[in-house]
Amino acid sequence: MNDEKQTTYRIGPIRPPSEANSLLLQITEGCTWNRCKFCELYKHEGFKAFTVESIKRDIDVMAEYAEIAKDYQREDGSWNKKAALEKLNRMTREEKNCYYLVYRWLVNGGENVFLQDGNSLAVKTERVLEVLRYLREKLPSIQRVTTYGRAETLSKISVEQYKELKAAGLDRIHSGFESGSDRVLDLINKGVTSEQEIIAGKNIRESGIELSVYFMPGIGGKALSRENAMETARVVREINPDFIRIRTAVIKEGTELWRDYLNGSYKLCSENEKLTEIKLLIENTKDCTGILASDHIINLLQEIEGKLDTDQQKMRSVIEKYFNMPESEQRIFQLARRSGMVTRPEDLDLLPSEHLEKLARLAGSIADEALWDRKLNDMMTNFI
Ligand code: SF4
Repeated sequence: MNDEKQTTYRIGPIRPPSEANSLLLQITEGCTWNRCKFCELYKHEGFKAFTVESIKRDIDVMAEYAEIAKDYQREDGSWNKKAALEKLNRMTREEKNCYYLVYRWLVNGGENVFLQDGNSLAVKTERVLEVLRYLREKLPSIQRVTTYGRAETLSKISVEQYKELKAAGLDRIHSGFESGSDRVLDLINKGVTSEQEIIAGKNIRESGIELSVYFMPGIGGKALSRENAMETARVVREINPDFIRIRTAVIKEGTELWRDYLNGSYKLCSENEKLTEIKLLIENTKDCTGILASDHIINLLQEIEGKLDTDQQKMRSVIEKYFNMPESEQRIFQLARRSGMVTRPEDLDLLPSEHLEKLARLAGSIADEALWDRKLNDMMTNFI
């Protein structure tokens, strides 16, 4: 590539874990709200929407890299990785990054694209439509395009507009609802009401676009733990989203919610309270057909996953099995899981006895429940 031509494209900081193999196209930067009390993702930057022309130029660069990379695909579909990556030697660091992401995307099927950043549908629908059409034209292997949106923004988009977005190639919207309780939403300063969540969710579902919402067990703190679950279940029942993704609450040092914790106005939920919230959500959404997904290491029991209507028993038995463990063993598992040593309680059997003894000593050394909850919260911050 010569010097005059644009040879890199923008890459934003976030994407959902389910979009790990997706190509990332940044159409906005930052978040329009930026005031949630648990979030510090974009605290140092304002919201910016990029021009359609500049986004198209980014897509052109992606398409060009895709053409280069495709030369290294063999007839049987396999890839000559060594030759494909030799290209990197002649590129700048930024170019390498951009080329490698396109190459990796193609190797993984070249099917999914995620439009970044935190609230991309805040820009005018016409602009998103133009971007979607251009993207699909330039990269025809695309099968699915997804993006993030705040419920407050999403509630202002009509069914007709969503239908246009769907026709232009937007397939799925992720939205961090976190909770369906208005009191919890207020507490965390989400800037959204449960009514807005319901309007947004129903409009999206009616248009045929898939909806993936995020639920944070524990984010309401001890005082609102049950309400967090029950009200979220109410919102889920109203909308019946395609996916409900669990993101167990972790309160990071430096956030406003952390300050509330330090001044005593916010009490951290225990691991068992957070699990009870998930149990309540499952039990109270039996007639929903969506998938409860636990696709993040931050969740204590990642096996809790399945369809809300048909996998009730399977999901509940994972939770019940854990609750049937002696409390001392639950604590050992919590420590091992939060240290990244194990995935499931059964994995404790695979740990060397000296590790188990060390965990047991540590678990036994903190009797105070609030201190224990803080210890685990601190350990969890390593994963976000
Ligand atoms: S809407 Fe999302 S990105 Fe924006 S402040 Fe809240 S949690 Fe952070």
